[in-house]
Amino acid sequence: MSFKIISCQDRVLKFFQNAIKNNRLAHAYIFVGQEGIGKTLFSKELAKAIFCQNSSFDACDDCNNCKRVNNDSFPDFFLTVPEENSRVIKIEQLKYLQEILYIKPIESEYKIAIIQSADRMNEEASNCLLKTLEEPPLYAIIILIVTSLDLVEETVRSRCQIVRFSPLSKDFVKNNLINRFQLNANLAEQLALISNGSLERAISLADTQVVQKKNWLINQFYKLEANDNLTFSKELFNEWHIKDLDTLEEKRGLVKELIFSFLMYYRDLLICKVGNLNIPIYHDKWDELIISKSRSLSVDTLLNILNTIKISLEYLDRNANINLLLENMITNILCLQTGNKISLLQ
Ligand SMILES: [Zn+2]
Repeated sequence: MSFKIISCQDRVLKFFQNAIKNNRLAHAYIFVGQEGIGKTLFSKELAKAIFCQNSSFDACDDCNNCKRVNNDSFPDFFLTVPEENSRVIKIEQLKYLQEILYIKPIESEYKIAIIQSADRMNEEASNCLLKTLEEPPLYAIIILIVTSLDLVEETVRSRCQIVRFSPLSKDFVKNNLINRFQLNANLAEQLALISNGSLERAISLADTQVVQKKNWLINQFYKLEANDNLTFSKELFNEWHIKDLDTLEEKRGLVKELIFSFLMYYRDLLICKVGNLNIPIYHDKWDELIISKSRSLSVDTLLNILNTIKISLEYLDRNANINLLLENMITNILCLQTGNKISLLQ
């Protein structure tokens, strides 16, 4: 592998190729973008391009350094990920990294540390990271990988160069699902649409019948009345088989998909409402129904609903109780839809 395998991130690729050529690498970056679009992959390819013995601006993938970065065994390269069964980066992990970073590089002029899920750490851990970012050793390059900048402390953010990653194109995801994972074209097309440019997400949804679950959900949206809120959230739990999942992590993952479905549906309503038909909508099968539903809601209402959904996603990432979270979100949405005055319960 080398930069050649990076897809749909041309802007980021050019940016770093120039930075390497001109010797203008920063001490700290935040790679931001949704899950499953290749941020960690890119950061490893970047590390290889910097450490490679045979190539100045890319990875040869053949030399001893490239091979050892691939195996996470190069002594000047560190990848920190949440420990098994944990969603967060722990302070002990950051303290260890901090100690290691202050020891000079062994085989190279740089020491590269990648921290995955860097938007998932508590205040104590974040303060520890901040200390490292405040006085990074000259040879250090620290890359924080996050899905949302909202969850990164401003003090951390302000010390890093922000690099935004784009979603993968729908065709790229679809072709990969067909060619690499042997999915049939119809399922690949639907998964490419609902995964919103994340190959990892599309693959994880492939055998969970999420496509059918989402279709069921869309049909329910049209029938909802204001006082259906509590029955509907219970129905959702049953139809989506959330209770049947073993771990909280699995439940949270499925609830996230569920909330994404809400987000995509109301996003489509907004696009139909403002009449911008150049932007593709996810639910093209339901075109007529979507258009007629969008007529009954104002742009302000739709924006408020989308905001409610976005807040719910953030609370989900902060370990909120998933039953309460769903009930509150649905109550808020239905109240907004029917124009009832509500106070945000979250
Ligand atoms: Zn190499």
